[in-house]
Amino acid sequence: MKQNHIIENYTALKEKTPSNINIVAVSKYQTVEDIKTLYDYGVRDFGENKVQDLVKKYELLPKDIRWHIIGHLQTNKIKFIAPFVYTIQSLDSIKVAKEINKQSQKHDRVIPCFLQIHIAEEESKFGFTPEEISNFIAEKYTFSEFKNIEISGIMTMATNTKDKNQISKEFELAYNIYQNYKKLMPQINKLSMGMTSDYEIAIQNNSNLIRIGSLIFKK
Ligand SMILES: *Cc1c(COP(=O)(O)O)cnc(C)c1O
Repeated sequence: MKQNHIIENYTALKEKTPSNINIVAVSKYQTVEDIKTLYDYGVRDFGENKVQDLVKKYELLPKDIRWHIIGHLQTNKIKFIAPFVYTIQSLDSIKVAKEINKQSQKHDRVIPCFLQIHIAEEESKFGFTPEEISNFIAEKYTFSEFKNIEISGIMTMATNTKDKNQISKEFELAYNIYQNYKKLMPQINKLSMGMTSDYEIAIQNNSNLIRIGSLIFKK
């Protein structure tokens, strides 16, 4: 059965989002049928945060879907997504980079990866700290030893708060880091920030990729 509310939600979002901004539909709590509804409408970019769910959905859905992984990766699970994942948005440690590189080499691929930056207050959020990234930049560290990884973006999450000023400040910081790193690595061209609750603030702060789940799939 066609789930028209999904298409309506998506279309409404698309209409109010500037056309240069990529939308990744975060399908982590959604059924294969609901994802297929959006796929049939023409959407190709989907995001999942768990390897097991991603693999299951990959197997059941059309193979031209561009799957983004947006959740923390355990190194022992990277091998399961390496053959097909489109972008890893949650590269959050050198250890993870090493393993992605090793697995993508096995499949003769170069996997696009975003560096996840931890800016939010919550301890539970993964990622490099702004200080770590500043050090990378100061040391002109470009991850170039990982031949099978292409660092193509920065991803971050803001603190889960109602304080719009704080969210805005965090996104502004991410944008600054993005710009600074881009000077060293010009191939970085994606700034992934903004979810249902804060994507408008993210866009005001120069996000060019938003990751939207509940707003698209809500009934
Ligand atoms: C779940 C999730 C999203 C989407 O969240 P919504 O609030 O449903 O839009 C975006 N990014 C990450 C990393 C997520 O885990």
